[in-house]
Amino acid sequence: MLSLADIHFGYGDQPVLRGVNLEVQAGEMVVLVGSNGAGKTTTLRVISGLVKPWKGMVTLDGDRLDGQPPHRIVEAGVVQVPEGRHVFPKMSVLDNLLLGASRPEAWRQRRETLDEVFEVLPLLRGRLRQMAGTLSGGEQQMLAIGRALMAKPALLLLDEPTLGLAPLVASEILEVIGRLNSGGLAVLLVSQQVTEVLRRAHRAYVLSGGTVVRHGAPAELLSDASLIEAYFGRA
Ligand code: ATP
Repeated sequence: MLSLADIHFGYGDQPVLRGVNLEVQAGEMVVLVGSNGAGKTTTLRVISGLVKPWKGMVTLDGDRLDGQPPHRIVEAGVVQVPEGRHVFPKMSVLDNLLLGASRPEAWRQRRETLDEVFEVLPLLRGRLRQMAGTLSGGEQQMLAIGRALMAKPALLLLDEPTLGLAPLVASEILEVIGRLNSGGLAVLLVSQQVTEVLRRAHRAYVLSGGTVVRHGAPAELLSDASLIEAYFGRA
């Protein structure tokens, strides 16, 4: 479905990604882990078109995504839930959700999609008129996920969705992501909550120094103590 082939990118003349190869198949939940500064966020930024790779190709079902503007990539079905949630605090929960449905196709289906979102995130239904800024951190994360779902993604990109959340709330968020994936949505997730995330994922990639140093089944990676030590410091 999604494929990154030999992606190179950097800021200024400083390389950050040095030949990243990565794939997400339909229906898969893939997790991207690695130490701070490894280039995980930058990889997601390349996929969602926020930055253009120096070299390499990003394709979705064979169509080139790299070089396309971010809104085209959303139209193609790749939607990112940004790190730090970024809900609009002075807007209601409903208006935040509707912002996710800005493309015409998604806008036409907004009522049905809202119902689908409430099924996965029932908490939002009772909060529609509330200002997003008054929600708790976990609730804001749910809203950010809900907003991404309003765009009707085929592949959801999530950057550290549990960062700064209490463990119980973080588990709840991962539960929601797991449920979305079980419903058929492909997920590419960046996380530092390695062990808990790996248990739910189909496959994982370990990024270090801007390249993939390991990839495979989560059980394989989790059984490698030296790997855990080296890359998953905060597991
Ligand atoms: P973290 O878990 O700390 O977010 P990460 O693996 O997501 O790490 P990136 O955020 O992709 O890593 O950053 C990779 C490198 O690129 C880091 O050295 C970072 O300092 C640098 N970097 C990131 N964003 C920028 C930017 N806008 N301008 C310049 N350098 C940047």
